[in-house]
Amino acid sequence: MTRVVVVGASVAGVTLVQGLRELGFAGEIVLLDAESGRPYQRPPLSKEILLGTSPERADLVDEAGLESIGVDFRPGETAERIDVADRRLLTARGKLPYDHVVIASGAAPTVPAELRHLVDDGAHLLRTRRDAAALAAVLRSERSLMVIGGGVLGSEICSAAVSAGLRTILLARPTPAIGPLHGVFAAPLIPLHRAHGVEVRTEPARVDRSAGGWTADGGDHPALADAVALAVGVDATACWLANALPTTVDGVRCDTSGRVAPGVWAVGDVADRAGGRYDVSRRTQSAAIAQAREVARRIVGAPQQRTAVPYFWTDLHGIRVQAAGRIPPSAEAHVVERDDAGTPVAFAAVDRGRCVGAAAWGSARGFRRARAMLGDTTIPQEVSR
Ligand SMILES: Cc1cc2nc3c(=O)[nH]c(=O)nc-3n(C[C@H](O)[C@H](O)[C@H](O)COP(=O)(O)OP(=O)(O)OC[C@H]3O[C@@H](n4cnc5c(N)ncnc54)[C@H](O)[C@@H]3O)c2cc1C
Repeated sequence: MTRVVVVGASVAGVTLVQGLRELGFAGEIVLLDAESGRPYQRPPLSKEILLGTSPERADLVDEAGLESIGVDFRPGETAERIDVADRRLLTARGKLPYDHVVIASGAAPTVPAELRHLVDDGAHLLRTRRDAAALAAVLRSERSLMVIGGGVLGSEICSAAVSAGLRTILLARPTPAIGPLHGVFAAPLIPLHRAHGVEVRTEPARVDRSAGGWTADGGDHPALADAVALAVGVDATACWLANALPTTVDGVRCDTSGRVAPGVWAVGDVADRAGGRYDVSRRTQSAAIAQAREVARRIVGAPQQRTAVPYFWTDLHGIRVQAAGRIPPSAEAHVVERDDAGTPVAFAAVDRGRCVGAAAWGSARGFRRARAMLGDTTIPQEVSR
């Protein structure tokens, strides 16, 4: 009987095993995860769960649900090595032969060497359900929070901290970048944080813990806070694959279909897909789901479905930030819509004369307009409200 082993039981791994069964796959499925407990998804961790919703609300499926579709779910079992030639996985519990193995082991927070002392001193990271519960306790009990990193995660933490009533300090780079948005596309970020009371500092600062709390030097006066959260990016190096398959901080290199080697596939945050670097959905839940469905179809030999336009969103201070398509660093931003104060809120991304991406800050109409231009070769005209 054909055996598929899936490493990682979060959204990519769970979607993959469910997809296999929906497609009629009748072989054996083993689903491993290094963490114990039920499979869960991460988006609620930086949003409602930080604000007090029960961490169980992030559950994806329970053990009975997996058992009912014939999945051998093994929480707490970590993949330690892979033998690609012999199609075997080595886990903490022994050897696991496979016909197909799907790497869905995700990513982990980056902690650069110069910031490691912060984690040792108790700064918070946010990736797991346990991390979210610890940071939620900070939002309940402390009066101020310093967030290092102004990307999607750091910005979402700031948004939650402000709405929980904490004085919030954000240490960010002077050139804003959030998810797939950079340069002009990300320009509304810092003004948005400031408008909602976040104290944004963009000068370099050293952060340290002292008896009175946490201090950031730099600027005219030091910033002080009761707690620190660190959100400076993720690292998708799957160390357990080292020496067997090429892996970097961007993940495991695979082709445009998710194939890494014969019988080896990668999906979700760990998949460094050829050609996918500037997709706005890179390292998002929607990409993990789409890739898992696609690879499930490839494993069973089912025809592929049409791929959706890549999509990204986040909610910050009650504003929906959206993007679609691809936004390479070389893309020019063409303003598609401004708000009543004349500030650009929707953009088309134009690369080599063609509209390849769309982005909008709090403007559903502007986003629709920009997205409708995808593929156009006429340079979009600016539209005022
Ligand atoms: C706090 C937070 C909020 C987010 N919010 C959003 C959002 O609003 N919208 C959005 O689109 N995306 C969001 N994301 C990103 C999104 O959650 C990820 O893109 C998604 O989780 C990727 O899923 P994955 O299954 O590939 O990897 P992961 O979710 O990282 O899961 C990987 C799993 O593999 C397991 N694992 C790792 N190594 C091994 C091993 N050697 N053996 C066995 N198991 C292993 C891990 O324990 C983990 O459970 C958020 C991420 C975070 C952290």
